[in-house]
Amino acid sequence: MFKAALKILKEIEKHGYQAYIVGGFVRDYLLGIESNDIDITTSATPKEIKEIFADACLPQNAYGSVTIIYKHINFEITTFRREANYQDNRRPSTVIYVHQLEVDLRRRDFTINAICMDRNRNIIDPLNGRKDLKLHLINTINDAQQSFQDDALRILRAIRFATILDFSLSNEVKEAILQTKYLLKNISYDRKKSELNRIFGSLNILKGIKMISDLGLEEPLELQNLSKVKPCSQIIGIWAMLNVDDIYPFSRNEKTQMEEIRKVLLEDPLNPMTLYHYGLYSCIVAGELLGISKKKVNKVYSKLAIHKRSDLKITTDDILKTLEIEAGPVLNQIYKELETLVVLNKISNTKNNLIRACKIIYDKITKGEK
Ligand code: ATP
Ligand code: MG
Repeated sequence: MFKAALKILKEIEKHGYQAYIVGGFVRDYLLGIESNDIDITTSATPKEIKEIFADACLPQNAYGSVTIIYKHINFEITTFRREANYQDNRRPSTVIYVHQLEVDLRRRDFTINAICMDRNRNIIDPLNGRKDLKLHLINTINDAQQSFQDDALRILRAIRFATILDFSLSNEVKEAILQTKYLLKNISYDRKKSELNRIFGSLNILKGIKMISDLGLEEPLELQNLSKVKPCSQIIGIWAMLNVDDIYPFSRNEKTQMEEIRKVLLEDPLNPMTLYHYGLYSCIVAGELLGISKKKVNKVYSKLAIHKRSDLKITTDDILKTLEIEAGPVLNQIYKELETLVVLNKISNTKNNLIRACKIIYDKITKGEK
């Protein structure tokens, strides 16, 4: 991937423009971390890039970055620019193309994200990002308070990088976050969620949570349960504990999973009935949150006599015929009791056993009614 990027730089330069790798890739490269997305900054305009890589260009996004697919890898190529007149504490209303690399670097968020590499792997670092990289420090390029006011998402980006890289926020950044944190309310939940996902998905999550809480961001982020959160390999487990299903955007499927995980937390992930009802995944996640190993949960699950209703060796038709009754709530009640008996190993899952049991249950119900 790296070699492919250097080839792209050479190709752009061949046409008379400047081009550099910038941002996360260079930062991670210098830290010895593998990175799977490469951003390129260039003096060529999107139109000129499209002329060079006519076959590989994807439709342009709103900010005029061009994504090109080269050797099956996506590269995001952005023209040197200056941004002005930020609106809603997030988006610049004006983007002005410029000719100098350094001007482009100055519009970026943090010093460690403004280091470049040229086609010969030389590092170009006019804003001294390597100094902060060595000090493990997150520092803004411009005045921190102005930077967060221009784009409040940078507050979360600062915490994300500090969490993932195990860096510290500079005192200026911390102070500026305290002054501007209320602006997080203006940022879309989608963007906030994707930054929070990166923080929650980090092995260093507890540091991230501590930063959020020390800086008093629970309230602007509406994460009142944050102090109760425990690390979990599945991010959905963390969102389940946060209980913000109606505030942040989630798919229907994720909402069901979060509800199930919370129910399992109130029950017991090793209880066969709980495993049967909520399935393996929710029980493993809840188990992890309760300190129960995946192996233990798996073991109980694999021993379940049935995993779903259709595993029962009796059909609703069989029950209706045996009891000579019509379909209705009684049928459902009988079916549920049979399920429970089999899951709890009170009877084995054979048709004869189930027919016998359904007669007993039916007698009990009808006697109860008399
Ligand atoms: P990663 O790819 O690991 O998420 P990254 O630093 O490359 O980290 P991207 O979102 O890919 O982050 O952005 C690429 C670069 O664009 C950043 O390194 C930074 O220089 C600049 N950038 C991205 N978002 C912002 C922002 N909100 N404000 C200022 N500069 C930004
Ligand atoms: Mg990137």
